[in-house]
Amino acid sequence: MILQKEEKIYRSFIISVCLVAVAAIAGVFLGINIQARKLITESLHSTARAYFQTIVATRAWNARYNGVYVEKKQGVLSNPYMKNTDIETKDGRTFTIRNPAMMTREISEYIGKNEEFSFRMTSKKLVNPANKPDAFELAALDQFEKGVPEIFKTEPMNGKMYFRYIGPIFVKQECLKCHAKQNYKVGDVRGGISVTFNIDDIYKQLRSNTIYILLFAALTASFLVGSLWLLTKRLTNKIAEIRKQIEEMAIQDGLTGISNRRHAFLRGEEEFVRAKRLKRGLCCIMMDVDFFKAVNDKYGHSAGDGVLKELASRAKNVIRKYDILGRYGGEEFLVIMPDANFEQAKTLAERIRTEVKARMINDIPVTVSLGTAEINENDTRIDDIIKRADEQLYEAKKAGRNCVKP
Ligand code: GH3
Ligand code: MG
Ligand code: MG
Repeated sequence: MILQKEEKIYRSFIISVCLVAVAAIAGVFLGINIQARKLITESLHSTARAYFQTIVATRAWNARYNGVYVEKKQGVLSNPYMKNTDIETKDGRTFTIRNPAMMTREISEYIGKNEEFSFRMTSKKLVNPANKPDAFELAALDQFEKGVPEIFKTEPMNGKMYFRYIGPIFVKQECLKCHAKQNYKVGDVRGGISVTFNIDDIYKQLRSNTIYILLFAALTASFLVGSLWLLTKRLTNKIAEIRKQIEEMAIQDGLTGISNRRHAFLRGEEEFVRAKRLKRGLCCIMMDVDFFKAVNDKYGHSAGDGVLKELASRAKNVIRKYDILGRYGGEEFLVIMPDANFEQAKTLAERIRTEVKARMINDIPVTVSLGTAEINENDTRIDDIIKRADEQLYEAKKAGRNCVKP
């Protein structure tokens, strides 16, 4: 049986161990989740940067030729923000210039505002009002002026998730041709190219991935907590069982299983104190096997052990439930009888004597002598009564054995 205090200690131990396990698992799975999100964000980031670099490269290509000319067919208009945009060829066709800005805007319009991917140019100093930055772009342009190289974030728009990226465009020598009026210097932030693409599918997958990770973490934690609980429970039960065995060994006589001398004494002392306090009766019986040396000599030591065991068992069967039976010495036994008067003690001693004599033990005829004593007002310890019982036992031996005294 596990004691209440022990149970409390075990329970708080199990709970602490389980909490540590749950915290460790939560930490591991949180780490996995954070790492997965970081990897995905990094991959989106490089995709966005690649888009940006492609656009920057296209613009650089255009700028290297100081703009490129396109044929001015139906619907092709000249750049309204530039002068001397058109040229005529010898064969009578008209071509109009496309500088990097207009080219970028036209490609952006060509791609259109589709749901998957779009990009646009933007600037704080506008030439074309259509390029006005939105809140994200404006904040980014401010950051670029402080030297931040790029800005990105995920943003929900129209119920879908988008990845937004913006990188700076710097003023180069060739830009000044058109933008000198705006007081730019080479190296200034001219504006930015803002890239937006749909990540709704990835985002949904990321969300379901988080749910799977949570489920998996919960399952692992339950399994671990369950196993730990069971194992600890098994261990604590084993400890309690061993403790019980040790406790029994400390109070029991190894041969007969009844109380050993020390324990019988301690119990007797308790009963003595109680009897004194409550002015109740208390008696002792000392019992010794007659001619036991001869039994050993004739039948052997282990046969003698068998006799002692059986004697203890017979005595135990006749005493009252709350009487204390102990092995006092080699072949001497002690009975302490709480709440008993002298007559009851003498009767019990007589019953033990007749029980022993009545049947042979393993074909060995055995008799016992018994001495009885009761508490008196001069007694200060249980020893005092035991001593008088022992004297009476001596009297019984003197009187020829197999009898009770007085
Ligand atoms: P008496 O009637 O005067 O008591 O005679 P006795 O032979 O019983 O007296 P004595 O005290 O001389 O002998 C006790 C014997 O009990 C001696 C010892 O060998 C034996 N004995 C003591 N403990 C054990 C035990 O655990 N097992 C066995 N088999 N014998 C024991
Ligand atoms: Mg003896
Ligand atoms: Mg003896």
